[in-house]
Amino acid sequence: MTTITLPFAIGEKCWVCRRIHHEDYETCPECLGTKEVTLTLANGESYKLECSGCKSGYDPPRGTVRTSKVVYAPEEFTPLGFNIHQDEVSYNSRVPGSTSWEVFEAKHLFKTEAEAQAECDRRSAEDTAALEASQIYQFQMKRKEYAFSVHYWRGQKRDYLKKLAWIDEKLKALQP
Ligand SMILES: [Zn+2]
Repeated sequence: MTTITLPFAIGEKCWVCRRIHHEDYETCPECLGTKEVTLTLANGESYKLECSGCKSGYDPPRGTVRTSKVVYAPEEFTPLGFNIHQDEVSYNSRVPGSTSWEVFEAKHLFKTEAEAQAECDRRSAEDTAALEASQIYQFQMKRKEYAFSVHYWRGQKRDYLKKLAWIDEKLKALQP
């Protein structure tokens, strides 16, 4: 027979980490709000382009970008019931301000606010780092558009110049 000790008593006040997600707008880090970037090629030619960092689809750049931040904050939790599945204990309680219930595994409950705060800080840092990494990746992907648009138009110019030269040749041959 296995004896499972309940880490928390029913009705015992403890703490959980509550995930708070908020969205905000900040100045575009690519164009610093100017909505333009300058692309300089190795040959020294520069091109002014619409910032793709704060541009979405066919809309013009806005100079601001939406940022998501995920922060965790300690919140009181009073278990009203528990469940044992194999040797995992989980506790349930009412969602604050709601009629629904929520469940937390015992390992995600803390005796003190300070312990919960330490875990919240760890999770906030982890999620923030992941979000920043994905934002940097998105900017890198968008940067490719600059090179693409300049290469595209330079390519078009080269093709048209070639065609013009060819037309000139044709016209010359037709001259009496
Ligand atoms: Zn921008």
